[in-house]
Amino acid sequence: MSLILLNPGPVTLSPRVRRALGRADLCHREPEFAALQSGIRAKLLAVYGLDPAQWAAILLTGSGTAAVEAMLCSLVPHEAGLATVENGVYGERMTRIARAHRIECHPVPHPWTEPPSSAALAATLAAHPRCTRVGLIHHETTTGRLNDVAAFAATAGGVPLLLDAVSSFGGERLEFEGWNLGACAATANKSLHGVPGTAFVIARRELLEDTGRTVYLNLVDYCRAQDAGTTPFTQSVQTFYALDEALNELLEEGGWQARHAEYQRRMRTVREHLIGLGVEPLLPDGVSSCVLNAFRLPAGVPYAQLHDGLKAAGFIIYAGQGELARTLFRVSTMGAISGNDLERLLVAFDRLLR
Ligand SMILES: *Cc1c(COP(=O)(O)O)cnc(C)c1O
Repeated sequence: MSLILLNPGPVTLSPRVRRALGRADLCHREPEFAALQSGIRAKLLAVYGLDPAQWAAILLTGSGTAAVEAMLCSLVPHEAGLATVENGVYGERMTRIARAHRIECHPVPHPWTEPPSSAALAATLAAHPRCTRVGLIHHETTTGRLNDVAAFAATAGGVPLLLDAVSSFGGERLEFEGWNLGACAATANKSLHGVPGTAFVIARRELLEDTGRTVYLNLVDYCRAQDAGTTPFTQSVQTFYALDEALNELLEEGGWQARHAEYQRRMRTVREHLIGLGVEPLLPDGVSSCVLNAFRLPAGVPYAQLHDGLKAAGFIIYAGQGELARTLFRVSTMGAISGNDLERLLVAFDRLLR
């Protein structure tokens, strides 16, 4: 039996994306590959209606973290510092990446279950005038919180945001100009419904800088090569096929707005059903994403018991991370999930939790 994945990526594939994986073998130095790559880059910009003269979609072979690392390495100038807003695993990971590359980094830490504070960011920027970039997570997958990017953009003044949109790109609203983004990092295998192996950065072209910090993750090299129809290194051709098909599917279905509405329907169904079973969501509705919600494990139900019971019924949920591992479970709405799948999920929850 094939499992329905309710973890935050990789996702359950649609039949057409799965079929795309089996297309003809292709050399990454041939014109057919150049056309595939250019098509994906154009479609990624089209998802949020971005102008190709201002913005570049840069494709990498790696997971979402590779895109985040490439973004921080290639968009923080040497004389600049980076303030990182932390309220979960992924914000803290930005700080680790910056420090690994000896980037001057000033974290703005928060407890994982708290909304991050723009006043705390303002204080950090005032104390460290060299901070001319802000690193922020859009959807903090640790807890399911959608951070208020607009508020941070206002606090940052003219300082560009480097946004981790790995788990929101394609499923949530993103305002590239309104939020003064310098770049955002994302991946094929979350809300875009592709397979793991391709990640990307959408960068404001004028901010890309060859900092010399990295070879494999140097976005200036990738961008120059991809603008010329080539690639500096071997790309994961089959995952490109899948991403291209996944983008066709997304755009045909009505773009991010239609996907967002579908995720909202799914999440409302799951959330209301679980509340009816006495399960408490970690966060209020208004601050939660539609991509993933976290719930408190009911007393007397260890995570392994819930996970294994759902797995036997055909569903994979996700544990909490770090300090939240023993108290939470998480459910994501991404991927090819039918109404019938959702109905079966609710029945399985009834059997395990009632
Ligand atoms: C999934 C995710 C990542 C990247 O994780 P990988 O395992 O490297 O794909 C980064 N940030 C956020 C917010 C994520 O949800």
